[in-house]
Parts: sequence; C-alpha cells; structure tokens
Amino acid sequence: MNLAYTPSTICAVATAPGRGGVGVVRISGRALLPLAQALSGGKTPKPRYATYTDFVAADGTPIDNGLLLYFPGPNSFTGEDVIELQGHGGPVVLKMLLSRCVELGARLAEPGEFTKRAFLNDKLDLAQAESVADLIDAASESAARSALKSLKGAFSGEIHTLVDELITLRMLVEATLDFPEEDIDFLEKADAVGKLRRLRGQLGKVQATARQGALLREGMHVVLVGQPNVGKSSLMNALAGDDIAIVTDIAGTTRDTVREEIVIDGVPVHIIDTAGLRDTDDVVEKIGIERTWQAVERADVALVLVDSRDGIVPEVEAILAKLPPRLPRVHVFNKVDLSGDQVGRSEEDGHPVVRLSARTHAGVDDLRALLLEMIGYQGDSEGVFLARERHLDAIARAAGHLDLAAQDWQQVEIFAEELRMAQNALSEITGKFTPDDLLGVIFSRFCIGK
Ligand code: GDP
Ligand code: ZN
Repeated sequence: MNLAYTPSTICAVATAPGRGGVGVVRISGRALLPLAQALSGGKTPKPRYATYTDFVAADGTPIDNGLLLYFPGPNSFTGEDVIELQGHGGPVVLKMLLSRCVELGARLAEPGEFTKRAFLNDKLDLAQAESVADLIDAASESAARSALKSLKGAFSGEIHTLVDELITLRMLVEATLDFPEEDIDFLEKADAVGKLRRLRGQLGKVQATARQGALLREGMHVVLVGQPNVGKSSLMNALAGDDIAIVTDIAGTTRDTVREEIVIDGVPVHIIDTAGLRDTDDVVEKIGIERTWQAVERADVALVLVDSRDGIVPEVEAILAKLPPRLPRVHVFNKVDLSGDQVGRSEEDGHPVVRLSARTHAGVDDLRALLLEMIGYQGDSEGVFLARERHLDAIARAAGHLDLAAQDWQQVEIFAEELRMAQNALSEITGKFTPDDLLGVIFSRFCIGK
C-alpha cells in the first residue's frame, strides 16, 4: 500500500444532488469493520454481500434503513476498506448519514479523492483514473463508449506496449555505450534504426487514435453568427438529427442562453450564439459577454447563417468584423426551399459555402460532413479510446524525441538520451512519471464522491 497520503477515513455522498429513489454514501479508509458495525447497530456485514439494515445514530435510533455493502481492501475500488450505504435518496437523510460518518471519525472527501486513492494504490493508472471523470462527463454516447474503453485499459495497454519496446531498444543502445569502438557497427547489426522506425510508426498510429479520442472528449467549438429568424434553432435541430440534442431557443432574448450543446455523429458540438454578444451597461451581463468572447477566441469555426434570399446583411458583416481573423468560416445560406438556390457545397471568396434548408433537411448532411472534416474527425468512433489534450501533448513530445533519436543515432549518447526522454514522456500518460502538482490539478476537477 502506498503511504504517499494521510490514510484518514473519507466519506461523501456519491449520488447526484437532489432527490432520488436511492442515495449512496461512500466511505473509504483502513480497518473500517468497526465503523460498519457502528453504523448498522452492531451487525457484522459479510464482505461483498448486501446487508439490509438500519443505519443508526449514536443513541441507537435509526437515521434511515437500506443496504450496507462492505468491501475489505485490497479488493475494492480504492484498494482500502470501502463501505457503501444505500439509503433513501433525500438530501436531508443523506446529510444525516454523512454527519454520522463524520461523528464516527471520517472526514468529508475532496473532489476525486476516492479515485486518487485508487490511483495511489495501483488499482487504476492515471489514464484510467481520468477516464472515470470523462465517462461521467461524456457529452455523447460515442464519447461515453470511448471513455469506458480507456477505463478498461485500452489506451494504457497501447502505451505500455510502446514503453516496453522502448525499454528493449534502450537496453540495446545503452549496452553499446560501454564499447565505443564498435558501437555503430553493433547498432547496425542489431537493426536499431529499423526497430526505432517501427516504434515511431506504432506511436503514430496511437497518436492518430488518441486525436480522434480527444475530439470525442473535447468536441468542437462553433461560433454561430446569424440574425433573428434566419433559422438558427431549426438548423441546430437538423444538424443534431437522431442524436440526443439539447437545443433550446436562442433568439437572444434572455442573456443566459448564449450557449448550446448538440451532438453531430457522436461529436459534442459546443455552440456560442453571437446574438448574446451585444453591447450592454449591465455589469453582470458584461461579465458573461466577456467570458463568451474568451470562448470565441478558442473556437474552431464560425458558422455564418443567413437567409439565402437576403445574403450577408450589414448587421452580420459587423459581427464578422469582430471575430478573430484566424477563425475559419463556413457561410451557410438557409431556406433554399424558398429562394430556389441549388443545394450543396461550394467555395466562394475563400470560404466554404453550404446552401441548405433547415426545414426540408436538404443539404444538411453536407454541412455535417464539412464540419467534421474541418476538425479532422474521421467519423468512426469504433476502436477509439478517449484521450485528453494532456495525452496528445505527451505523445507529441515522445514522437519528437524519437525523431531526434533517428536523426542522431550515430551519436550513441544522444540516441540513448532521446529514447530515455521519449519513455518519460509516454510514462506521464499512465502516471508513472507525473509531477504531484499535476495530479492535484487532475483530481481536483472530479466531482465529489468519485
Ligand atoms: P432563429 O431565430 O434564427 O433561431 O430561427 P428559427 O429556427 O426559430 O426559424 C425562424 C423561422 O424560419 C421559423 O418559422 C422556421 O420554421 C423558419 N425556417 C427555418 N429554416 C427554414 C427553412 O430552411 N425553410 C423555411 N421555409 N423556413 C425555415
Ligand atoms: Zn430560434
């Protein structure tokens, strides 16, 4: 067991806030059997069985009744003793259960603390721990399926394979360091460069898959520019198609509804409506608008939606002038069923153009394909594991070191050093080589009770 943290007993409500049929309190720590007995009024729960019991207060009166599960370590989520209380899902009852746990010596868990303990006790590696949060936060079914793949170790497995092969190659290269006269010869005979090239090829494949996985996680950020009534809501619904769409009306009448979420072919699409970006003297509104502009800075594409009977009107030009010049634009001419324009994709003034009807859905597929193309999504989430920017960054650094190694392989010390650095970069992904402050950041973004 890892002693890198204070092994105090922690507790939290693991179910979402609010009312529900069942509410779960989760407890983790060392030697929790006495705590289980105290909570259940003296019963000794059988490990890994559900025990139906009252949960009792210090004076023996029941607080709630339900199921108590007792998982002695190390066969538990955190690797420590874990107790789960499944009580009634009311906020007051759960708060009382939590208070009782605190009375019995537990403290309230920090966000992600259960998963952090699982990581520190080697129950999960870091990429798997991150995928726990990604599964909970998944914005589409494809993202959820991919997160589960990562959680079950698909991504970590790829990284382990690469690291193992890197280690084998490093041993070969480092062995020659002791015989400087014959090193080049030796490395040629052992096909060190061929092995390096194959390794680089495998890394490239993992990189491509991880990029797709990161797209599924991060999704695409779209800035929507369009006058009232040009068909923004209709287009969002049409784009989302069969995917679960969470589209609310975005006429710009309320200041809160400037952001939308839809899903296109499994890719979450975050939409910022510039209708919310108007000049204002209201302080609160100003803050919101400032934040929205920051999001605009990070966007992938601007979707400029106009009525094909009107074209781009001066009000739209004015907004376009305020957008970052680097932001790629797609001009969408809607309501072709009324204008009689020909449906489909083209290019005008250096911008991709799509003519479509949000009402009849003609041409909507063209826009969908164009958007996915623009972010490099290949449209097949099968076999894709979820990945984060942090992972892409580590893979890119590893690739850079392998490229330098290939370039300078005849300087064997450099060759060896670049391989070592490539290995370290990859090991950051699974957490074998991750600074503590980064761990803090990663786990602090979890929800409480996970
Ligand atoms: P928004 O204000 O930009 O969100 O526009 P809406 O999506 O609410 O649409 C405004 C009106 O235009 C509604 O009556 C829609 O039914 C209609 N509309 C939207 N797209 C089309 C289209 O492609 N063809 C036709 N004929 N009407 C459309
Ligand atoms: Zn609307």
